[in-house]
Amino acid sequence: MRKKYIFVVGGVMSGVGKGITTSSIGKIIQSRGFRVTALKIDPYINVDAGTMNPTEHGEVFVLKDGNETDQDMGNYERFLGVELTRTNYMTTGLVYQTVIERERNLAYGGTCVEVVPHIPLEVISRIENASKKAAADVTIVEIGGTIGEYQNILFLEAARMMKAKHPHDVLFVLVSYLPIPNKVGEMKTKPTQYAARTLNSAGIQPDIIIARSRVSLDTRRKEKLALFCNVNEEDVISAPDVDSIYEVPVNFEKDRLSTTILKKIGLFPRRTNLDDWQKLVRRIKGLTVPVRIGVIGKYFETGDFILSDSYISVIEAIKHAAYRVKPIIDWLNSEVYEKNPSKLKELGLYDGIVVPGGFGARGIEGKIAAVGYCRKNKIPYFGLCYGMQIAVIEYARNVLRLRDAHTTEIKKDTSNPVIDIMPEQIKNIAQKKFGGTMRLGSYPALLSQGTIAAHAYGKKEIFERHRHRYEVNPIYIEHLKHAGAVFSGTSPDGILMEIMELPRSVHPFFLGTQFHPEFQSSPLTAHPLFVAFVQAAAQKKKRTRRK
Ligand code: GLN
Repeated sequence: MRKKYIFVVGGVMSGVGKGITTSSIGKIIQSRGFRVTALKIDPYINVDAGTMNPTEHGEVFVLKDGNETDQDMGNYERFLGVELTRTNYMTTGLVYQTVIERERNLAYGGTCVEVVPHIPLEVISRIENASKKAAADVTIVEIGGTIGEYQNILFLEAARMMKAKHPHDVLFVLVSYLPIPNKVGEMKTKPTQYAARTLNSAGIQPDIIIARSRVSLDTRRKEKLALFCNVNEEDVISAPDVDSIYEVPVNFEKDRLSTTILKKIGLFPRRTNLDDWQKLVRRIKGLTVPVRIGVIGKYFETGDFILSDSYISVIEAIKHAAYRVKPIIDWLNSEVYEKNPSKLKELGLYDGIVVPGGFGARGIEGKIAAVGYCRKNKIPYFGLCYGMQIAVIEYARNVLRLRDAHTTEIKKDTSNPVIDIMPEQIKNIAQKKFGGTMRLGSYPALLSQGTIAAHAYGKKEIFERHRHRYEVNPIYIEHLKHAGAVFSGTSPDGILMEIMELPRSVHPFFLGTQFHPEFQSSPLTAHPLFVAFVQAAAQKKKRTRRK
């Protein structure tokens, strides 16, 4: 069978759900019996997403092979139920780096190496390679950025070249936005018309338009888009805002989108099975009992706005685990607790608290205080990476009474470095080698019997994804254990502490992981530790109600 490619490009503005559209198209094609893989192209110079601040670019999603990528890769994995690798991700920087290295190695045989065609050719070769590696029937490629920017023009050129070579195997989907200005009250198609024209000027005609908006499109708007953007009316798909992103594939199928796409690329469906997904959506819609979860972080303020994108995998993992309750998630800024410790009391209003991954000093004392509050007041606590390290620091300070216990990430000269840099990381930092050098990707850990972790996972050996430079300092492990802390997961050689917890007899749920469990949770297979945490939160809610 000839390999098929679907390019997803965005019009009008960013943040309209291109990633969810790409994932959902993948899902519905997969449900018709085809092998699907997905690729993300990010049009910036950074070689990967690892060196960017999450408030700039959202969450850094870590693949099993350790590649630090865009959050959309997480959506692809969650929707498609597959594990992707570095082959599925590229940035402008990475593409240029490869071409320049190849030129230095004389691999272009003395020719003049130029932006066009050599850059698009490298892009095409990466796309084809990813498709081959996944043995995919259909490969979906999301081109980041918005039509009309300089940044993604070479990627559009690569897509155009692929279409020119294989006209029947390549399809273009334009995801656009139709605003409804308050004062006007009417849905406007003009920005999308411009986007389609701009795409035309790059030599590309969209085959399908996904029309994102607050509400569904009416026939009038569909007719207009069809006429002015040169597509059939039935190829304009309405994509109104939804409560849960997992509704999107189901909504697409109401418009028979997979049938339209398959016809256009000349594939005959083998079966249709979106049952699990439909069941999932019905279940999510039926949830009523609220459980309040507070997430304490710092990467969510952008100007006057709140951006929860920085923690998207954490939010989704909480939602996946909430089988029977409806999670209400609040953002808590830890700096508030530093300035005004009396505010800590507000934590008591929550059924569970999460401290997700993080870096640097801002807000850390507030986080330590908050974790202490959860420990003493028996509020279910789940710490992810930095959140685990902070739990260890808090325990050392307040239970072991090592008042200056700290991480050397923040206080280099602390006399009690309970969290310390991993030996192999010292050189990286000294040489300023920050990109792609953390302890990254999937590593095994062994669990100790009789612990919360072992009970939740129901097995002895686990594999989880990492992204950190610091670890629990081995010198303090025995002291911490002696004082009641349980290290229920360790690296197979017993050197690295992977999970810290407190026994159920002293706290209903107090657990931190050195890894990031959120990267392996998906809607159809919730992560066991998130399930245990949400259960503990639901129980706390019941307990408080009874009082
Ligand atoms: N800053 C910590 C470290 O590097 C934790 C990192 C994280 O939370 N991902 O070890």
